[in-house]
Amino acid sequence: MSILKNKVALVTGAGSGIGKAVAIAYAKEGASVIVSDIDENGGNQTVREIETLSGEAYFIKADTSTVEGNELLVKQTIEKFGKLDIACNNAGIGGPAALAADYEIDDWNKVINVDFNGVYYGCKFQLLAMEKNGGGVIVNMASVHGTVAAPSSIAYTASKHGVVGITKNIGAEYGSKNIRCNAVGPGYIETPLLTEHLSEEQMEGLKAKHPIGRLGQPEEVAELVLFLSSDKASFITGGYFLIDGGYTAI
Ligand code: NAP
Repeated sequence: MSILKNKVALVTGAGSGIGKAVAIAYAKEGASVIVSDIDENGGNQTVREIETLSGEAYFIKADTSTVEGNELLVKQTIEKFGKLDIACNNAGIGGPAALAADYEIDDWNKVINVDFNGVYYGCKFQLLAMEKNGGGVIVNMASVHGTVAAPSSIAYTASKHGVVGITKNIGAEYGSKNIRCNAVGPGYIETPLLTEHLSEEQMEGLKAKHPIGRLGQPEEVAELVLFLSSDKASFITGGYFLIDGGYTAI
């Protein structure tokens, strides 16, 4: 069964980790997928993997922290595949670690621009395209830190709480226009965002915070995103859904 047959889907940050898994999951279900990333090599690799699975995908480079990057991305998506049905605003960064008073303003702005502003800019242009198309679905990538603190990462926590707020407002405003919008809140997921920045000891420490006893896999998050993006979730909007191995239960 192809639950996204004839759909056009856009995924940001799709050259790595969770975004890559989402793009592959969408393509496996029959969507034509725009794979977008700031990292050209990663994005093209995702496209190749989708094509190997006989799926359809096309890479568009975009920096989601800019208004222009998001506007152009939606425009080019429509030029390539004719419409936009589904968007997953996934691109994100962790930012450096420092206590709130020591957080460098440049670092604060960088994280806020990618993780918070970028999600709003993306939604803004996606909503305009979806309205013209008669409807659509947006899934925004938040985090468990959309509801609990990430000590030493205040900009990340603020951004992810903000993403939940953006999502609720869009859910409230666009239900009558046949556009659904939800946010996903993963616990710690084994992706380059973690593996390239944390020591083995830090990774073990993170595992211990999940009652399920391990980190999550990108494909597990992709399953939830896929569900929310499909008609199976037709009565779900404005929601924030944790997928966290029990992280926030304690
Ligand atoms: P990842 O493996 O680092 O992948 C993120 C991708 O986004 C990378 O290819 C990255 O490119 C790209 N990117 C960064 N800044 C961008 C920008 N301004 N415009 C376009 N693309 C950009 O990270 P991930 O773990 O899959 O995380 C994906 C999302 O899930 C993020 O929003 C993150 O906050 C969220 N999340 C992750 C976890 C986790 O534990 N991994 C948990 C909860 C939520 P570069 O590599 O060149 O920077």
